[in-house]
Amino acid sequence: MARESPAARKTRAALIFEGLRRAYPDAHCELLYSNPLELLVATILSAQCTDKLVNQVTPALFQKYRSAADYARAPQEVLEGDIKRIGLYRSKAKNIRSACATLVELHGGEVPNKIESLIALAGVGRKTANVVLGNAFGLNEGVVVDTHVARLSDRLELSREKDPLKIEKDLMTLAPREHWTLLSHWLIWHGRRRCPARHPQCEQCEILVHCPLGRKSAHA
Ligand code: SF4
Repeated sequence: MARESPAARKTRAALIFEGLRRAYPDAHCELLYSNPLELLVATILSAQCTDKLVNQVTPALFQKYRSAADYARAPQEVLEGDIKRIGLYRSKAKNIRSACATLVELHGGEVPNKIESLIALAGVGRKTANVVLGNAFGLNEGVVVDTHVARLSDRLELSREKDPLKIEKDLMTLAPREHWTLLSHWLIWHGRRRCPARHPQCEQCEILVHCPLGRKSAHA
């Protein structure tokens, strides 16, 4: 079969995103938060862990820790105890304390809205920074590439890359900047609800007609 041209891929991507927008008009970040600090902490906690579990732990955590200074001065073992239901809780507690100490020292206790400042914080990579910028600040700096976005980008042949940074770059060329944050929500919601790693529901899929993998399995 002929290789798809970049222009054809862009057209197909637009149809996919339109299909997902219609399927998930209410797509949003599923972590609970009410300010940038809460979202930063929730996102650090969510690495290799479900949003559902994070959302069970954070209400009590956010009641107890109201500011970056609260986390920064908490003893390591106390914060560990507060988040111990979450995987990798020791390193996550260390990163949260260290990131919050930096917020206090360099940013007056506030979460900065610049990607360079965010990725300089302990435990914060480009993915976490994009989550915070896109959802807490409404800034489309990049596309969040988590496990769902990576899987869907591969299945939908939106990117041939395996490295999240390279996948992100490909996705950024396929959608207008104002859609970058929503785009990751659409793909994450579709990955969770219709196209999980095992047993994707291709027959019910809203974007089957634009999906090379789904069309292949339909004709198999
Ligand atoms: Fe996933 Fe199947 Fe839909 Fe393609 S057609 S996006 S593989 S559920």
